[in-house]
Order: sequence, then C-alpha cells, then structure tokens
Amino acid sequence: MLTKAPKGTKDLMPDQIYKWHFVEAIFADICKKYGFKEIRTPIFEHTELFARGVGDTTDIVEKQMYTFKDYADRSITLKPEGTAGTARAFIEHKIFADVQPTKMYYQIPCFRYEKPQSGRLREFHQFGIEVFGASNMLADMEVIALAHDFLTKVNIIDVELRINSVGCPKCRPIHRKALKEFLADKYDQLCDTCKGRYEKNPMRILDCKSPICQELVVGAPMMLDYLCEECDDAFTELKDNLTSASIPFTVDPGIVRGLDYYTKTAFEFVSNSIGAQGTVCGGGRYDNLIEELEGPPTPGVGFGLGIERLLLLMEASGLEIPKPAGVDIFIAVMGEQAKAKGIALLREFRAAGLHAEMDLMSRNFKGQFKYADRLDSKYTVVIGDDELASGKVSIKEMSTSNQELVDIDKLAEIIVKQEA
Ligand code: ATP
Ligand code: MG
Repeated sequence: MLTKAPKGTKDLMPDQIYKWHFVEAIFADICKKYGFKEIRTPIFEHTELFARGVGDTTDIVEKQMYTFKDYADRSITLKPEGTAGTARAFIEHKIFADVQPTKMYYQIPCFRYEKPQSGRLREFHQFGIEVFGASNMLADMEVIALAHDFLTKVNIIDVELRINSVGCPKCRPIHRKALKEFLADKYDQLCDTCKGRYEKNPMRILDCKSPICQELVVGAPMMLDYLCEECDDAFTELKDNLTSASIPFTVDPGIVRGLDYYTKTAFEFVSNSIGAQGTVCGGGRYDNLIEELEGPPTPGVGFGLGIERLLLLMEASGLEIPKPAGVDIFIAVMGEQAKAKGIALLREFRAAGLHAEMDLMSRNFKGQFKYADRLDSKYTVVIGDDELASGKVSIKEMSTSNQELVDIDKLAEIIVKQEA
C-alpha cells in the first residue's frame, strides 16, 4: 500500500514529462491566438456547486465524486470537471459586468470514481475552454475550431468531429415525452442505472454504455427531429459556420449532454484507434448554467479535452514527440584547483544560456565521461592540473569524438558561438 499510488492514478515521471510539456505549450499557444486567457480555480469546491452545475442525475454526481467533509463539517468535492468552477468564478468576480464575451482556458486535474481502464482514470487531466456571454453560433464555431486546430497541430488526423443539438427547455420536453413512450415497454430490460434515468433524465439512456441498452434505443426518437425553430436555425447556422471554417463534421443524433441547462450544440471528437475510450474531446453549449448557479442569465459554450486520452491517441497514431535536448556542455574535473575552475565555468556557461552540468558524485574521469554520455551531453570539457597549468583545455564533441584544444578563458565564448 505504502509504495503504491492509489488505484486509477498515475505518476508523471520526469522522463515522460516532455510529452506533457509539448502538448501544453501547443494548447496555450493556440488559446492565445484565439484570445483565450488562462483561469486557475481551486482543486476543490463546495459539493453543492457540482450537484447544481453538473446536474444530480449525471453519472458524475450520482456515483463518481470524491466528496468529503472538512473539519468544519462542510461538504467538499474534488473537481470532477472544469466548467462548474469556471462558471462559479465568473459569477463570484462579477466578470459578467465586463464587456462580453469572456473567453477562458484551463488545464486541470479531474477526479472521478470510475472503473479504471485504458483511457479511464480516477485522477485525469483536461484542457478546457469556456466562452461566456455569446449566444451566437459563431462562438460554438470558435470553440470547435480551437479544438480542431489543436488536434491538427499535434498531428492527430484520424479523429472525427460529431455534432448534434440537444435542444432547449422549450423543445426538449416534447422529445422527452416521445422518448419515454418509445421506451415504456422496454423499461424492464433497461439496466438499473437507466431505470433510474427513465423518469429523471431519459435522454441519458441514449448515451448508456451497456450493450443491452444500446440495442434497446435503436430507432428511438431523436432530439434532432424535435428541435424548435430557434434551435433548428441555430443548428443550421452552426453547420454553415463550420463549413465556412473548412472544418469537416458529421451529424450524430446520438450525442447527448442530457442536462437541463445544456442547450443546442453538443459535440465530440472521436477516434477509433484507442478502443472504447475513443472520445478525446467533448463539449457543447449550456445557456442555462450560469443562471442555475444564481448568476445573471448568461449563455456559455465550451469543451473538455482529456490529456491522457490525447497522449494515448498520439501514441496509437505513431506520433513521435520530440525529446528535449540533452546537456550542452559537461565539465569533467579532477583535482581541487580544477574543481574551482569548473565551478566558475559552470556559472559562466549557464549565465550565457547554456545547459551545463558537473558531476556531483565524486566520480573519477572515466566515470564522469560515462555520466556525460548518459546525460546525452553535446560537448565535454576536461580540466585537470595539466590543463590548468597550460591554460588550454580540450573540448570533445561527443557525437563525433572530435577534440579541439582551446584557451580556457575563451571556452565559454567558443561554446556559445558553436551553439548559436
Ligand atoms: P466518457 O463518456 O468517456 O465517460 P465523459 O462524457 O464522461 O466521457 P466529459 O465529462 O465530457 O467525458 O469529459 C471530457 C473529456 O475528458 C472526455 O472526452 C475524455 O477525453 C476525458 N475523460 C473523461 N473521463 C475520463 C477519465 N475517467 N479518465 C480519463 N479521461 C477522461
Ligand atoms: Mg464519463
């Protein structure tokens, strides 16, 4: 127990972290180009926020939350997703009083008590964005375009964008009624979870992962056929906007975000190459969320993108993430005076912007060379008493084993020049 990370969590070890840095930098860069600013909100919030902001008929709130009482008997929950906390901050800081829209992005850990498997963890990470304040379908296009550009930039091409509309509180009740009628005589065959959903939120049955339920909903009435005029026009506009943006998509009436305050646009980016957990990014519009959280009525649209799934997908697609460069220069020293000179050089190299290292383990020369090799050092310089006496040292280019004798005082200058 003591030396094993909790089930469903993963350590991110230093030799793998470059992959995260790679996608993080690209995501931040794209967000900047689209005019999104980063927001950082707490890792935990009042449980009530998620019950309201995610919805108490969802899997997340019903059975996946990491909830605990703090010492003052408050119910606290570790973030299972990013939208609710962002919306809470938008209200708390009265951002709604500024010029709209508000465009924010984040990178967060999420916590959900799930059955761990490939692409499904109990602690995972998301990139997310939210646009608050814009009801125009241009905002939905921008949100989808950002995800599309990001996935393209990291070279994932085998994902499919699927879009749908989940309607609004005006048209959804009519669909809900039709769906319940369709499922009425199949009720007994539904899984236990879906039996519960039948009254509370039947649309989520369409999204059930159980094969039996999936079979039962074949031919069920779909929301797309029940959209009111406003939602129908919005969906047409979204499709037109995506076409104008040259972003390919397919309409998938099965995509569901079955909460009362999720409205209109729902979308997913799905891949077939990482098995069952193929949805790398999911998002949509939630025009009633801010109001549900007791803020002024404010529309919103956004997405969450699973970073672990993204990396799995990149791996499955055979995409090589560039490994960071090794050490620029390793300084091997022998003897007290040489050590003193080595320390001074080390400082000089780093001040000049180089990645420079010395051995910290008192190895002999041979050991230091071996270590320099391990660090993938580009150059190694050897300083011993002879070198100090002559004022000359040899720099070795590790890849070619070429050696050059240079003035010890000119060393930094020479290396910086070669690096430039
Ligand atoms: P799924 O249907 O796979 O359970 P979801 O609908 O619960 O996904 P969202 O809440 O929309 O997922 O979260 C957005 C993204 O976060 C998902 O598309 C996925 O990439 C990622 N994600 C969700 N749950 C997990 C998890 N347990 N482990 C790893 N990534 C996850
Ligand atoms: Mg889920």
